[in-house]
Parts: sequence; C-alpha cells; structure tokens
Amino acid sequence: MTELKPLAVKPLKYQSLDGLSSKQLSEHHDVLYAGYVKKYNEITAALAEVDLTTANATFSDLRELKVEQSFALNAVKLHEAYFDNLTDKPKPADGQIVKAIESRWGSYQAWVDEFAALGLASRGWVALVFDKTLDRFENYIFDVHNQGGVADTKLILVLDVYEHAYFLDYVTGRKAYIEKFMALIDWDEVNSRLNFPAK
Ligand code: FE
Repeated sequence: MTELKPLAVKPLKYQSLDGLSSKQLSEHHDVLYAGYVKKYNEITAALAEVDLTTANATFSDLRELKVEQSFALNAVKLHEAYFDNLTDKPKPADGQIVKAIESRWGSYQAWVDEFAALGLASRGWVALVFDKTLDRFENYIFDVHNQGGVADTKLILVLDVYEHAYFLDYVTGRKAYIEKFMALIDWDEVNSRLNFPAK
C-alpha cells in the first residue's frame, strides 16, 4: 500500500470571537479538534497493518478501526467547517445563499428559526446542507459525528452544539450560544462553499 499523507491541524482564522472566549476556543480547537486529527492519523496507520483475515461484524480489529475512523474523520470535517464558518468581523447575511434560503424557506427568518430550533433539538451538530438527491437545501442534525449525516449532501453551514463548544462561556445556556453563533457567521465563507458570489 502507498504511504498516505497524514491530516494536519487547520489553524483558526481568528484569535477570539465576540461571545466565544479564547479559552473556550482553544479548548475546542487546540485540544478537542486537534485530538480528532491525531486519532484519525493513528487509526489510519493502524488500518494499514490490520489482519484482514480476522474480519468479523460482531468484533474485529478491522471493523472497530473503520467505525472509529469514520467517527474521527467526520469530527475533523465538521469541526473545520464549523470553525471556518465563523468570523471575528461579522457582517449581515449576504450573497446568493440568502436568496437560496429565502426561496427554500419563504424568508431568511423562517430558516433562522428552524436552524436555531434544531440547535436545541440536536445532541451534536446542525448543518445547512445542499442535498443533491433532493436537489434542495435542507437543515439536518447529527447526534454523533458519524450518525445522522445524510449521504450525497454538501455541508454549507455547520453549528456545533456539543456542550464542549460553549460550556465554559455559557454553562447550560445553549440558546444564548446559538444566538451568538448566528451573529458570528462568515457569510463570505458560506457563499464560497457553493461558489456563489458574496454580493
Ligand atoms: Fe466540537
């Protein structure tokens, strides 16, 4: 097998955010997210050595490594999308994504209401995605990194609602954290994920 390039930790675009302290962000980014990157690399290296002849669906090294590889890799992808779709220089929602949201949900506010409510309903993640099979935008929840994701969708906007994302700053005040998140969205980044112009 050819040598696979290990994943690298993607740095934050900002030092701190209004409403998310540098302590909260560094625990989340430098400890938790960086830990998923490290574990993904460790699991992937172990898979290169696994004994394929012991494959078994109740328990086998191959099975456990593949399950945890999907857990670690989805954690990496979701965290990178989350950190990148926040900004320390927030501007009002703009660009073609806003028009797309309005045509799908009736109004921008109707989408905000649904997205924020899903932040209270999910145990892990909320994502605005483009579902290619349905050919439309949808809000989906993931209770665990690798459970709840829907195949053939593109992540557009990602909200982390695990307690580790906000507990230091908001304790159990998840609603206030979600309101702050909605105010910190980097709409240029969100538009760029669809190759939409930002204006
Ligand atoms: Fe997280």
